[in-house]
Amino acid sequence: MAFILTAMTLDNFGTWLEIDLDRIEKNFHILERTAGCKVMPVVKANAYGHGLEKAAARLETAGANWFGVARIEEAMLLRGAGIKANILVLGYTSPTRVPHAIKENVTLTVYDFDVARQYQEQSDAISTPVKVHAKIDTGMGRLGIQMERSVEFIRYLQESSCIQLEGIFTHFACADEPDADTTNQQLERFNQILDQAGISDRSSLLIHAANSAGTLEFPSARFDLVRTGIAIFGLSPSRAVALPAGILPALSWKTRLISVKTLPPGHGVSYGFKYITQKEERIGVIAVGYGDGLRRTPGNHVLIRGKKVEVIGNVCMDQCMVQLDSLPDAQIGDEVVIIGDQNGASISATDIANHWQTINYEVICGLASRMPRYYLKLNGHA
Ligand SMILES: *Cc1c(COP(=O)(O)O)cnc(C)c1O
Repeated sequence: MAFILTAMTLDNFGTWLEIDLDRIEKNFHILERTAGCKVMPVVKANAYGHGLEKAAARLETAGANWFGVARIEEAMLLRGAGIKANILVLGYTSPTRVPHAIKENVTLTVYDFDVARQYQEQSDAISTPVKVHAKIDTGMGRLGIQMERSVEFIRYLQESSCIQLEGIFTHFACADEPDADTTNQQLERFNQILDQAGISDRSSLLIHAANSAGTLEFPSARFDLVRTGIAIFGLSPSRAVALPAGILPALSWKTRLISVKTLPPGHGVSYGFKYITQKEERIGVIAVGYGDGLRRTPGNHVLIRGKKVEVIGNVCMDQCMVQLDSLPDAQIGDEVVIIGDQNGASISATDIANHWQTINYEVICGLASRMPRYYLKLNGHA
């Protein structure tokens, strides 16, 4: 679902996201200046909830010539939207999709001899090499050829006529933590492998290692390119990582007050009556629920008329209730902010993540596709 909205249609919705593409573009330029190398915006998971096609189109206009995605399906959506830049699929791609990748000029990740051989068979059958980046496991314990075989793996790929090796990369496990030892050790191992494989600074291969945290905290991890996801969208990877000045969140999440009632004392509210009124209470209903990505965790808060009010009772799929005794003037139609600013007050995705005991990444990736996405300040970009 890709909703493109104008201000005229905003009144039509119960809950929606407002996305500031100017901020995404600005964040990209700040990261370019900070990193001093190529910046690959990582736009997997619907551009971290911001809308894959619109975010990528703006970033491409701003000069991005690489995009990172997790799945080939995401790469195909980008090509379908007319994105011409290079695309690297960071995760697994089935060998059966290799012909599609070749046809659409999508670069795949190889991390294993068996997978590489299967890709070779596929590209050999259509006599066109598949572009790949080799991924090395320098300590993350996820995808990547193990250290001991990585030099041999790089040579194997370089010698294959059915494979065009374009880049070599690794991924950090702990770049967002205050303790730098693990990342420095991973970096050292990565440099060692590049050395042993005879890959110099002048090599035409693209060497990359850093995610947002690695980019900001480890200048020597920047190499030829950095893979920034969360920072492009204006959020910090963790408490331990400070964002450069000027990087700002690009997304707000809003809903409306759709009912206001005064309930008598002892009245249950929502499924399971987890909340029962103590006295006569003003209870509002807002048009957002777990079907949109608002978790059932008790104690959520939202902003109404610039004031933080508590969500009470169980969150339902499409609605939840708020306690309005502190807001006697609140009325049906009032705008409610779940993420964003209102009259000087603000709630961030990170605030919500702290309350849910998770990370801001999971909060924004959980923003349901059914919610309309409204793009602010289009600046003439369609
Ligand atoms: C998701 C991902 C990134 C981006 O990470 P951020 O922390 O959002 O910057 C970079 N590289 C790989 C391999 C990834 O999977």
